[in-house]
Amino acid sequence: MSNQNLGRLEIICGPMFSGKTTELIRRIESARELGFTTLAIKPTTDTRYAQQELVTHTGQRIQASEALNAAEIITRVGELRISNHIQIIAIDEAHFFGEELSKVCATLVSEGSRVIVVGLEFDHRGDVFEPFPSLFPLSNDTTRLVGVCALCGNKAIHTQRLIANSQRIVVGGVGDYQPRCAKCFAPSQ
Ligand SMILES: [Zn+2]
Repeated sequence: MSNQNLGRLEIICGPMFSGKTTELIRRIESARELGFTTLAIKPTTDTRYAQQELVTHTGQRIQASEALNAAEIITRVGELRISNHIQIIAIDEAHFFGEELSKVCATLVSEGSRVIVVGLEFDHRGDVFEPFPSLFPLSNDTTRLVGVCALCGNKAIHTQRLIANSQRIVVGGVGDYQPRCAKCFAPSQ
């Protein structure tokens, strides 16, 4: 199985609390059961829960390496490739890595890895988050998850920020954000 060319890009996107990390962990675990080697990566800036782990809001967890920026993902993969061929690379919270991530994904896919990218498609203003606009054309399989609108119960595609902060990226959890449908979503300033 080690020399099999798996080269493909999968995207899992949606608002907060739509089950993105849960879906990612499910794909990683089923790949592992089939004997594939996997590497999960998350941005260093995400300090919400445990370091070196992907953790869902419901407490599921899986081991992860950290990368400061998109270029460092290549470094992390390279370090492990010396001793082990990494077949599946999962990147969580992709919106932290910006546009640069699309080039990194293209490189990893061309090297034969199955790359799974997870993140928020829209920011707190309702604008599309890089790297998704540049990733979508490269994707072989895109899964758009929806949440349940916290106000009306309809399908939520947006993440409503409940705390006052003008920064585009703020790390938070339950209580700081809500899933909202397009009607109930009020873009932050
Ligand atoms: Zn609503």
